[in-house]
Amino acid sequence: MDLKGYNPFKMAQEQFDKVADLLNLDQGVRELLRNPNREYHFNIPVKMDDGTTKVFRGFRVQHNDARGPGKGGIRFHPQETEDTVRALSMWMTWKCSVVDIPLGGSKGGVICDPHNLSKREQEQICRGWVRQIAHDVGPLRDVPAPDVMTNGQHMLWMLDEFETIHGHRFPGFITGKPVGMGGSLGRTEATGYGVIFTVREALRQMNIQPEETTASVQGFGNVAQYAIDLYQQLGGKVICVSCWDQGDQKSYSFRKLTGINLNELRSITDHFGGIEKDKARELGYDVLPGEDWIGQEVDILIPAAMENQIRKDNVKNISSKVKIIAEGANGPTTPEADEVIQRNGIFLIPDFLANAGGVTCSYFEQVQCNMNYYWEKDEVLSKLDIKMTSAFLDVCKLAETKKLYMRDAAYVIAINRVAQACKDRGWV
Ligand code: NAD
Repeated sequence: MDLKGYNPFKMAQEQFDKVADLLNLDQGVRELLRNPNREYHFNIPVKMDDGTTKVFRGFRVQHNDARGPGKGGIRFHPQETEDTVRALSMWMTWKCSVVDIPLGGSKGGVICDPHNLSKREQEQICRGWVRQIAHDVGPLRDVPAPDVMTNGQHMLWMLDEFETIHGHRFPGFITGKPVGMGGSLGRTEATGYGVIFTVREALRQMNIQPEETTASVQGFGNVAQYAIDLYQQLGGKVICVSCWDQGDQKSYSFRKLTGINLNELRSITDHFGGIEKDKARELGYDVLPGEDWIGQEVDILIPAAMENQIRKDNVKNISSKVKIIAEGANGPTTPEADEVIQRNGIFLIPDFLANAGGVTCSYFEQVQCNMNYYWEKDEVLSKLDIKMTSAFLDVCKLAETKKLYMRDAAYVIAINRVAQACKDRGWV
């Protein structure tokens, strides 16, 4: 998924180099952390429904496991590339580190398009992926999870294959399983709620009451909907959301200045997070061009759709009223736009901190699986709140004392912890 000429791995390495300079990391550590520790590339032969055999290409990249077993999703995507998986594995290392969970960073993928595959064919890909790598992943080595176009069912097939190969039950091998089959309560809410735990703390630092604020959100999927849910519970008002329209192949923004009604919008949204335009108009929403979410006069912007959404060409549309940008999506801001945001003094909560609620809850799932004892939802969410709040406050404190931009402060903490673990283990 190499977007508009961007090589995500190059970008991840550039971000790393910048912080490595800032930290004055020595050469050995730099070389170790600039590239993944291990990579697996393999063929997955599948007997298709029509009797032919098709060979799919699979990957697992283990960037660094100095702080604990690797953790990271598996994507099914026709444009999956080795460099995307490499970059995402590196970002997972920093994400687990910044929230201080004892896990490293990994990522996996298969080049395929699930839209064109039967359930049986998808199951064969899942089982084939595990067969190729069953001795190099595991609860104490590297723990996969769902990601783009993979879900709880895919995880269960993978778990079943892993347990068949090893001859034991290993519920902690994989996360994102359905509740009742080893999944954790609270996982659905975790990423969106995590974004708002950080927003709540940012407002507290600014002495602003959430009830006095408004927000505009890009996306209306899992992350966006649960972020809106918690933000509204805190008393905030969301006046605009945007989403992708599958039929028109373009995005739209939906605005109601008196505040959107979450349940009402959910009732006219498909399971890809697309809102029905005509029904929204009937309910009194202004249906505007997709880009308009960014130009609203609000206090908080939450990009929670996809990467490369705040760019050089549209960063100027951000209203001077905006005080906080909380990156729910991965990589929503390009480096050029980031410079403008920093210059304009907007308080940025960077992606790998803001959206770390998902991986934190996956870690809780692993812990519960390993104990074979499952917590109530409230317990999961309050543990999540503690982790996210503490990570946010650590980053804020460093940003303040060292006069760093929030993104740089988060990177400094994350990279420092991993570098220290490598040193303590005697690797460098
Ligand atoms: P999702 O598929 O549930 O929802 C995506 C939403 O974005 C949909 O409403 C879709 O219509 C909308 N969208 C897509 N393209 C758009 C565009 N160009 N303009 C406006 N809206 C657009 O996905 P999600 O799970 O909510 O993930 C959103 C982002 O958060 C992704 O970047 C993902 O990598 C990141 N993220 C998700 C999790 C998680 O736990 N779900 C964890 C960490 C990071």
